[in-house]
Amino acid sequence: MNVHRTKAKSELLFLALGGSGEIGMNVNLYCCDGKWLMVDLGMTFADPHYPGIDLVFADLEFIEDRRKDLLGVVLTHAHEDHIGAVPYFAEELGVPLYATPFTARLVQAKLDEAGIADRVKLNILPNDSAFSLGPFDIRYVPLAHSIAEGNALLIDTPHGRIFHTGDWKLDDEPRVGVPATEEELREIGDEGVLALVCDSTNVFNSAASGSEGAVRAGLLESVAAQRGRRVVVTTFASNVARLQTLGEVAQACNRQLCVAGRSLDRIIGVAKASGYLKDFPDTISPEAAMDLPRGEVMVLATGGQGEARAALARIAGKQHPITLEAGDVVLFSSRQIPGNELAIGRIQNTLADRGINIVTDRQSMIHVSGHPGRPELVALYDWIQPEMLVPVHGEIRHMAEQARLGLSEGIPRAIVQKNGDLVRLAPDGPVKIGEERAGRLLLDGELIVPADGEAISARRKLSQFGLVTVALAANREGKLVSPVEIASIGLPLDDDMAAFVAEAQADVAQAIRDMKGDRKRDPLALAEAVRLAARRATQRWTGKKPVVQVMLREG
Ligand SMILES: [Zn+2]
Ligand SMILES: [Zn+2]
Repeated sequence: MNVHRTKAKSELLFLALGGSGEIGMNVNLYCCDGKWLMVDLGMTFADPHYPGIDLVFADLEFIEDRRKDLLGVVLTHAHEDHIGAVPYFAEELGVPLYATPFTARLVQAKLDEAGIADRVKLNILPNDSAFSLGPFDIRYVPLAHSIAEGNALLIDTPHGRIFHTGDWKLDDEPRVGVPATEEELREIGDEGVLALVCDSTNVFNSAASGSEGAVRAGLLESVAAQRGRRVVVTTFASNVARLQTLGEVAQACNRQLCVAGRSLDRIIGVAKASGYLKDFPDTISPEAAMDLPRGEVMVLATGGQGEARAALARIAGKQHPITLEAGDVVLFSSRQIPGNELAIGRIQNTLADRGINIVTDRQSMIHVSGHPGRPELVALYDWIQPEMLVPVHGEIRHMAEQARLGLSEGIPRAIVQKNGDLVRLAPDGPVKIGEERAGRLLLDGELIVPADGEAISARRKLSQFGLVTVALAANREGKLVSPVEIASIGLPLDDDMAAFVAEAQADVAQAIRDMKGDRKRDPLALAEAVRLAARRATQRWTGKKPVVQVMLREG
């Protein structure tokens, strides 16, 4: 598609650059009559597929090419999969950001840390506020989620209204914030909604997510049962409602609260500055906590996802001022994020091996999800009555299932789109009208590089097969003029290494002698013959084909 066409046409488009076809790095774009609006700018955490990488971002080239028509970035809430890429791309995008106060404070801290706060305009909007960006009239509609200030966006355009849910759930007792009521949501539906762009994360859950209020009761019961034992609770730092609940539980159980982990300290500070956690108890230091009788302290710790450097891992590994003994208890008031199971399992095994009891959300009601199960999705469809459904925030299977669910519940039209699919919502939508560049970028050290680049695939090969380096010098006639030197990294040969090296050296020398005619004088052909000989020798000794690096000098 060329830029000219979207500008000329009077239409409403949707394009996800991230978050559709995966759970993470949400970047959604709307285009109205040639003007673009970005909703969220998130990142995702890397998996072992990207060795040495922590953070993954959406490739923004599509919208960077249309920067002059981009009006702003509206952030729904402060989870990393919605704001995590902001410090890396906001300056380059060069457009204002919009966020509600709690989200804005966390974004501000990221901009400060990146040293770009004076170059990025961050607009802080009150909860429930409305504002306009070109042809888009936008209203924040608060919805419950597992973080303070979860928001949907009601986006009014000349082509119709979009209800972009953000991450959400229904909760009668959210404990923090005031989500839109059924009545308010029905009112939005009554005024007419063209497209519901909706969270798909938990579409396979047949039950509703459950209430924070129920978690309070479950946590109270679980902690009260631990008389005389030291209790550690781990949860997501950004779940302000859960922090409030845990503060109350500590007080109700006559336990002093100790906070272990920087991200908890930071979020508690931001939450208080944003008017939350007003009655949060004063906390005590780890040292003071250790001086109290075991049954009079409750420790809030980061690291429930198995993060190796977080407080819980260090407590489990006896590398933290907080110590636990057999009979003490760790409560996991959190869900296992897919991909973290092994790391979490390692910590739980370490704790269990030391006789420390573990309580998870599978044994007790101590966690609920922040995303809607089927009953909540069905309720929202009924209230909003959209003309079409656009599932987002899911892998393909989640989005396809939500499309099926929506259609079966009477939504007239639905479209399963994925990152890069350009979708026309109006007129005559939804219909896919093109495919645009969408890909992944990696933060590799201090550089941002394409995920499909040479460096990462080489590193993947190295990590699996090891490296053999062959150094030699040959003259112009292709005759060896130095001994063949061989070094290796990651070959499992131990005591056989010297014998392997001797054989590989002989093989390489032989391969050079075997070269015929002009090929001998071609350094590239010579290097390739050396590479193959070294690789064959390694395969003979190890059964594996390593990466072989040839350093050929002319002697
Ligand atoms: Zn979220
Ligand atoms: Zn999310």
